[in-house]
Amino acid sequence: MSDLLRIGLGAVAVALAGAAGYTVGAYAVTEGLSVGVVKRGPVRPMVALTFDDGPDPEYTPRILDALAGAGVHASFFMVGSRAEAAAAAARAVAAGGHDVGNHTYSHRHLWALSPSATVAEVDRGAAAIAGVTGIVPRYFRPPWGTFNWAAYLRAAQIGERRVLWSVRPEGFFVQASSARMTDLVVRKAHPGAIINLHDRGGHPSTPRETWSALPGMIAGLRARGFEIVRLQVLLAGVA
Ligand SMILES: [Zn+2]
Repeated sequence: MSDLLRIGLGAVAVALAGAAGYTVGAYAVTEGLSVGVVKRGPVRPMVALTFDDGPDPEYTPRILDALAGAGVHASFFMVGSRAEAAAAAARAVAAGGHDVGNHTYSHRHLWALSPSATVAEVDRGAAAIAGVTGIVPRYFRPPWGTFNWAAYLRAAQIGERRVLWSVRPEGFFVQASSARMTDLVVRKAHPGAIINLHDRGGHPSTPRETWSALPGMIAGLRARGFEIVRLQVLLAGVA
């Protein structure tokens, strides 16, 4: 092997190791070890409903009505660009007393983004959501729940807690009916559960199925003795 080829292969190996450390390393820390990432609250009879990918001009208001009708406060991880596009729905979330989290500006997969592009996605998301709702997001959840190191570090730098979930009724590829969502959530809920739902995104029927699942889901969770709270309440007192 020539020296040049050896140096070239070495450079490729370093680049691949760097890329793996940037993505797979962050994934291992957040997914496997859960370092610095909240996936559940303390063991007390409370659970939190969290909604990703909105706001949606049609289904977010319907979901807000269902929550208000049941006297439930939830948490909404908004996509900044969608908050700008559906500003009335975003403001209704804030006006309803729900918690607001940052789900980036345009919901790109962070594993495809450089550190600087990632920081821009996180910061622009926070700024857009704050600009529309008047609430500075206190929580961050990356698209598809996958961090890279830049997002992991930046969220904390700007005062957003990294929050994933412990219960998720939908598969990545399988669309769940409202009945199945209700059944899975009520059955899998545990003290301190953070439940991952969607008011937009995913399969086209997801927001509608989620909306129609809510009354049964809320009743089932309460029947099991759980109080349904927003993240600020679920995580109160958690460092
Ligand atoms: Zn998402």
